[in-house]
Amino acid sequence: MSVLEIRDLYVTVETDAGTTPILNGVTLTITTGQTHAIMGPNGSGKSTLAYTIAGHPKYTVTSGSITLDGEDVLEMSVDERARAGLFLAMQYPVEIPGVTVTNFLRTAKTALDGEAPAIRTWMKDVRESMKNLRMDPKFAQRNVNEGFSGGEKKRHEILQLELLEPRIAVLDETDSGLDVDALKVVSEGVNRAKEKTGLGVLLITHYTRILRYIHPDFVHVMIGGRIVEEGGPELADRLEDEGYDRYLEPMAETA
Ligand code: ADP
Ligand code: MG
Ligand code: MG
Repeated sequence: MSVLEIRDLYVTVETDAGTTPILNGVTLTITTGQTHAIMGPNGSGKSTLAYTIAGHPKYTVTSGSITLDGEDVLEMSVDERARAGLFLAMQYPVEIPGVTVTNFLRTAKTALDGEAPAIRTWMKDVRESMKNLRMDPKFAQRNVNEGFSGGEKKRHEILQLELLEPRIAVLDETDSGLDVDALKVVSEGVNRAKEKTGLGVLLITHYTRILRYIHPDFVHVMIGGRIVEEGGPELADRLEDEGYDRYLEPMAETA
C-alpha cells in the first residue's frame, strides 16, 4: 500500500504582475486502490495541483507538504518522483522529436525499474496494451507526440500508465477533447490499471462525464485554490445537475 499525502499546500506562480497565490491550503490523502476526483470550474487551481505534484518548476510551494509513504516528494527531482511511483499525465504532453513511442516506453520502463525489461515479454505487453486501447500497431513507430491527435495523445498517456505500472496516477483532464468511444477506451485502460496493480488515481476534471466510466470513491470540489466540499460519488451527481454556481455565488457577493 502507498499513500500520497498533500497537507495544507500553498502554491504561488510568477507572473508579469508578480507573485500570485494559486493554491491556498489544499489537504488531500490518496491511497493506492482509491480513486479521487477533483472537480471545479476553470481557473480554480486543479492543474496547478497536478503540476506541483509533478514538480513543474513554474510553481513554488510556499508552505505545506507532499509526501509519498512519508518521503518528501517536494525534495525529489521529476525523475525521482516517477521512480517513487508517481505518474503524471499532463494536459498538454510535450513532443519528443526523433524518439519513437516504442523506444520512449522502453527507456522509461528501464529508468523506472533500474533494468531493461526482457524484450519478448515486453513486446508482448506493448502489443497487448495497444490492442486493448484500439491503437494501430504502426503507432509504436511514430515519434512521441509529433502530430498526435488529441485522442492519440490520451491513448498514449494511458498506454504509459498500463505499461509503467505506477502506484499513484494524476490524470489531468484526460477526458478533454475525447468523443464518447475514445473516452470509453481510455477509461477502460485506467480501470484495467486499477484492477491489475491497485493503482491509486487522482482524476482531475471539469465535467462529470468521465466519472460514468471511471468511478470515484471520493469527490472533492476545488474553488479558488481550496477544497470547499468533499463527498462520495453522489457529490458528482449533484454537480452534474447543479454545476458550480452554488459555490461561486457566495464568493461573488463577498468580492
Ligand atoms: P484549472 O486547472 O482549475 O483550470 P489552473 O491551475 O490552470 O486552473 O489555474 C488556476 C489559476 O492560476 C488561473 O487563474 C491561472 O490563470 C493561474 N495560473 C496557473 N498557472 C499559471 C502560470 N503558469 N502562469 C500564470 N498564471 C497561472
Ligand atoms: Mg483550465
Ligand atoms: Mg486545468
